[in-house]
Amino acid sequence: MSQREFSSFRAEGVAAGRRRAKEGERQDWSVNVARRIMHVDMDAFYASVEQADRPEFKGKPVIVGGARRGVVSAASYEARRFGVHSAMPVFQAKRLCPGGIFLPVRMGRYKEVSKVVMDILCGISPLVEQISIDEAFVDITGTEALHGSPESLGRRVKSQIRAATRVTCSVGIAPGKFVAKIASDIHKPDGLTIVEDDRVEAFLAPLPVERIPGIGKKTSEALRSLGVRAIGDVLRFPASFWVKRLGAWGVKLHERARGVDPAPVIAYSQAKSCSAEDTFPEDVDDVETLEKWLFVQSEEVGKELRRESFRGRTVTLKVKFADFSSITRSHTLREATDCTQLIFGTASRLLRALKLNRKVRLVGVGVSNLSAMPEQKPVFSDSMLVRQRKLDRAMDRIHERFGHGALRRGRVLGFESPADEEGDP
Ligand SMILES: [Mg+2]
Repeated sequence: MSQREFSSFRAEGVAAGRRRAKEGERQDWSVNVARRIMHVDMDAFYASVEQADRPEFKGKPVIVGGARRGVVSAASYEARRFGVHSAMPVFQAKRLCPGGIFLPVRMGRYKEVSKVVMDILCGISPLVEQISIDEAFVDITGTEALHGSPESLGRRVKSQIRAATRVTCSVGIAPGKFVAKIASDIHKPDGLTIVEDDRVEAFLAPLPVERIPGIGKKTSEALRSLGVRAIGDVLRFPASFWVKRLGAWGVKLHERARGVDPAPVIAYSQAKSCSAEDTFPEDVDDVETLEKWLFVQSEEVGKELRRESFRGRTVTLKVKFADFSSITRSHTLREATDCTQLIFGTASRLLRALKLNRKVRLVGVGVSNLSAMPEQKPVFSDSMLVRQRKLDRAMDRIHERFGHGALRRGRVLGFESPADEEGDP
């Protein structure tokens, strides 16, 4: 991009920001320009932790995944060479990589390592937004006097994380979040990619247009029919063209293709949601069994929320069918909650409303739309809620003292709790 185009981009960014400010939105327009956002992403996280803990697995294809019929949660780079990737059914991974080392998920251990990583990042800037167990954005705008150039800071973060965890990460630094995320991904593993302000368009131009967040299959097909394959192709048409075609999303698309992304880094949002899910050893088709699982998951989610002093308003049910298609259904409550019974009740109503006619292989419950909340009296002096809260607290104390298997509420007695199995990295 030439210097003149760049300055007009800056001017536009400021003007747009002012308009927003006038409309009373909480957008600080000054963040539109000269921001520096760092995205840190651990490389093949679960698999790398296993290799760090068991040096004999170094250099070998390690596949972390659910027992029996689960899916791959993470594959080491050695395993990826066989075509294994996360979210693939384990049986398929075994077929592709029969000599692979298949390990169960050790979520507790990954959380420990994740905490070490996040603590390092919090030492750089107070603006750290953790987006998953192994990924975070750090706003490093204006930290040069303190930390040196972005490049030296990037190198230091990488070596600190490596020294503390024996796991490598990839770092991307750019003026906005989505470009930083693409940058961290582009030279994985152990990469460091810095995109300077005036290189953003040139950096994005050759990449497939699907790299822009929010472009699903449908939009992608529509774009391809216009001959738009790379992000740079979007800019062959003016913003007005995209608005006519795609409405408000057209403006966004055009902005994204130019690398404009004013989304701020929001600190402490690691608890955007809290969820639990399980893949069954055998497909399930009766609602009662599914509800039992939902109850165990609601208990787990509720306990985690209570432990972290969070409450959430939106309860989401996730169902994956035997044919691997999946759906989610959400319900937003009037009041944020951390109550097991309320989470379960909402999830089970969502489940019953589905009128299932297919076998199910996975079910899960999530609570999102979270807010940090100190202990407070319930707004409704609903005695049922008060009783539930007492029960929740008693259950939490017992689990804390005697472990999770110590006591289950009446509903799940005689029902065996599933093994830990979580998705992605
Ligand atoms: Mg990762």
